[in-house]
Parts: sequence; C-alpha cells; structure tokens
Amino acid sequence: MATTDPHRYRHPRQATALTLAHALSAAEHGLSVIPLSRTKLPALRSPHHDDDRKRAGLGPVGPAGVPCHGECGRFGHGVYDASADPARVRELFAAAPWATGYGIACGLPPHHLIGVDLDTKSDTDSTAALRELALRHHFTIPPTIVVRTPSGGRHLWLTGPPDVIVPNSAGRLAPGIDIRGAGGYLVGPGSHTTHGTYATTPGTAHLTPAPCPHALLRLLLPPHRPYPAPRDATRAAGARGRGLLQFVLAAHEGQRNTRLFWAACRAYEAGIGPELTEHLIEAATRTGLTAQEARATITSAARMPRDHGAPGTT
Ligand SMILES: [Zn+2]
Repeated sequence: MATTDPHRYRHPRQATALTLAHALSAAEHGLSVIPLSRTKLPALRSPHHDDDRKRAGLGPVGPAGVPCHGECGRFGHGVYDASADPARVRELFAAAPWATGYGIACGLPPHHLIGVDLDTKSDTDSTAALRELALRHHFTIPPTIVVRTPSGGRHLWLTGPPDVIVPNSAGRLAPGIDIRGAGGYLVGPGSHTTHGTYATTPGTAHLTPAPCPHALLRLLLPPHRPYPAPRDATRAAGARGRGLLQFVLAAHEGQRNTRLFWAACRAYEAGIGPELTEHLIEAATRTGLTAQEARATITSAARMPRDHGAPGTT
C-alpha cells in the first residue's frame, strides 16, 4: 500500500512523542495548544457526549445543564482545553495517545493569533485574491510565519490587538480565503493528518507572528450595525431577557462589571444564558466595557454554581 505519510512506519507512541515535542515547542512560544486526531479534529471526546445526545440541538452541556467549556474540570472541550502550560499540555497528550497533530487556539493572549487560510482546493486563486485585496485596501502582509498544508494551501499567522475579537469566517473576505479567529484553531506545523504533513515554509519558522495590518483587520471585523432595540434583540429571550439587558444598559461607571455579572447569572439561571450572551456583550460595550472584558465576565457567570451572584450596588 503506497503512502507518503512517514508516521505509517513509526510506532504510534513515537509518533505521539514527536507531536508532543512540536506542541510543547509552540507552547514555549506562548501559543495555546490541543491534541488533534488524524482528521484534524480535537482528539479528546467530549465528556458530555451522552448529555449532548439527550439534549440534541442545545450544544454541549455540563452537569448543571449549562454549556460546558471545561468548567467540569475534565478534558474534551475542543479549543477550550487549549493551554500553553507545559504540564497541562503533557496531560492533554497523555489523555490522547492517538493524537498525531496539534491545534493552536486563535484569539488568545498573549498573541491573539489570527490565521489567514489561503485555500488551493477551490478553482479560485486565493493568493491572487489576497494580493488584490491588499492593493485595493492599501496594506502589505508583513513577513510572518507561514505554514504549508498538505493540499498546498498556506496559513499566514498574524496577531491582533487584545481588545478586538476577530470572528471566524469562510470565504467572506474573498473566495478561498478563510479566517481563523476567536474560538478557532490552526493545525500546527509538524502535525500529521490523513492528508499529509503540515510544515512551516522555508525561511519563516524563525519569525514571530507579525501584527495584522490595520486595513486588513478592519476587513476582518463584522460590519458595524446599530444596536437593535432590546425588544427586537431578545424576542426569543422574552421579557426576562429584555429586563436583564436594560439592567446592564443602565449601569454607571464602577458598576458595569458587577451589573453585567449579575445579569449573566440570572440569565443562566433562567436558561436563556447562551442566547442572551451576544446581546449582553453588545449592551455591556455600550456602557464602556470592551467586548473581551464582557465576554470574560459572562464566562465567569456561566461557571457559577446556580443560585449564586448578588446584585451589585457599587
Ligand atoms: Zn465539561
């Protein structure tokens, strides 16, 4: 049987050791990693798999019925498992001895990595498309780490500012150009998949990820839309959701975070946390919090055991 995958001839344990070495090297550079299987998917299965099935359509849920992003303390939450702590990285790979690759989480400090994924599978020339975008919007892609994919595509690694959340997108910028942002991950160089090996392109491995040019960053952010009336924003969440949003919107400086936390706790108790989250973030940014601060506060609220969290008055 013909194959070009060198791992085929290696002992699986040796393959995992090599993958771990690559992942640890990335972690050493401040990148948060997770083990991947040959299919490029997170190698560790969700510990809530059975719950997931029972509550089909509601997304991964933890024991308390709220979406679990690792609050249960176990592995298997996809990109939420990602860590740059060598000890934790070793634990993750020990739990997934079948891993042949690793994913690098985008959007996390300190680098706030943004991946520009130039596809070659489609008929369109994504490299030419990016060049055209650069000409039209007056930016140049700085020298940075570039990873070649088994299919001949390229991943350009850029960094974003800490207070900006770059969403994932596929083909929005131009055909054949996908963006890996917050909640997404890039397959790390040295990873082996069913399609082959990922490797840095010659001359880029020693570079550090370069800051994303401002003009490009603007293109990556969702178009600004005016904040919808809470009535419209939370039709689904009902009167409860509208009340919580108003509570957040009415916050003075000094009580913004406390109010947001309280409202998020109430939302999760009422079972409308997930659907209200984006609206809460939008409301909080109107009071002056950054989207990232708001998201962190809501994440903390989601982790609270229910029936906790008191209204803030300061
Ligand atoms: Zn969990």
